[in-house]
Amino acid sequence: MSHLMNTYARLPVAFTHGKGAWLFDDQGQEYLDALAGIAVNGLGHAHSRLVAALAEQAGRLIHTSNIYQVREQEALADRLCELSGMDEVFFGNSGSEANEGALKLVRFYGHKHGNPQAQTLVMERAWHGRTLATLAATGSDKARKGFDPLPSGFIRVPYNDLAAIERVAADDKRVQAVWLEVLQGEGGIQVADRDYVRALRKLCDERGWLLMVDEVQSGIGRTGKWFGYQWADIQPDVITLAKGLGSGVPIGCVMTRGRAAGVFGPGNHGTTFGGGPFACRAGLETLKIIEDDKLMENAAERGAQIRAGLEKALAGVTGVRSIRGQGLMLGVELDRPCGELVKQALAAKLLINVTQDSVIRLLPPLILNEREAAEIVSRLAPLVRAFLGAPPAAAA
Ligand SMILES: *Cc1c(COP(=O)(O)O)cnc(C)c1O
Repeated sequence: MSHLMNTYARLPVAFTHGKGAWLFDDQGQEYLDALAGIAVNGLGHAHSRLVAALAEQAGRLIHTSNIYQVREQEALADRLCELSGMDEVFFGNSGSEANEGALKLVRFYGHKHGNPQAQTLVMERAWHGRTLATLAATGSDKARKGFDPLPSGFIRVPYNDLAAIERVAADDKRVQAVWLEVLQGEGGIQVADRDYVRALRKLCDERGWLLMVDEVQSGIGRTGKWFGYQWADIQPDVITLAKGLGSGVPIGCVMTRGRAAGVFGPGNHGTTFGGGPFACRAGLETLKIIEDDKLMENAAERGAQIRAGLEKALAGVTGVRSIRGQGLMLGVELDRPCGELVKQALAAKLLINVTQDSVIRLLPPLILNEREAAEIVSRLAPLVRAFLGAPPAAAA
């Protein structure tokens, strides 16, 4: 009998080691990793530069406390602010924790500005985490079911729908923030229209609301830019990061700028582990490697390659609704539930994921090379064709 709490429907495979975009199981089998630990392992597995930096850091200092100054934390905050255009950073240990910080900040901001019942507009199909407040903000009835009473303070609106937000704004003076993923991950790889994001920026400026962007999945180079919002050429007031930031070492953060900066003072928020020397070193080294090795450019190119490859290999196949995404955050939506494909792909030694029941999700590591990108297409496309009852594609 397993002593693990039964919270995951795990696949029957356990990995012992990895190298780049490849994982090896305890039976000696080799798998192509097109999921990267759900957008975490941007540098792939066992990246030699990261391994050396972490070994050096572990031998020197892993944890002190936020009672003291932490130089690695200051350095990572500086770099993240340079890259994002934000002013301040608070470090935690996960996406949910980063998002909790953002939500506490909205409420605190509301209190300071005469709005003690601050409401945050959140999106249908949004994913913000599993803690109570982030779950309340998450747009999944399945994830929320059975966990009432959940924290209040959220008004849900359809994604990519400015008129819906304007309607809420017209009759609720408590609104203080709009919160969205500019590219929804768990929500099925839904991309926000750039005009919509720009209009949100304008609306937030007019109303004195905070524009908050959850970049936990889309951040750190995955879409081909450091952050997804940069595609819309806007500057949010609050952003949150996690997944890819530490290349697998747990770290997350909430960043603020302008009127959202300087909101918290000593005693208003905190954490024991957050921003420790080891995790921040992982973050610093991750950012350096992405920059030095031009991994954002690579993400954009490999993403375009996979997308074009899938479009070609699945052209005319009935049941393929759309192939979409940005950089190495890609989705293939089918016209029917396709969870089974995850197991079929595993048998074909390809690691993928399915979200929203019918969207195949690909989140390969940013270090993916051209041959590996082609291999993802050549392993996945035949499975999709067979699943949908299409004949095998003619050899190219
Ligand atoms: C994964 C994810 C979260 C939650 O992060 P955890 O580290 O699992 O708590 C929040 N927001 C988005 C967009 C995510 O993809």
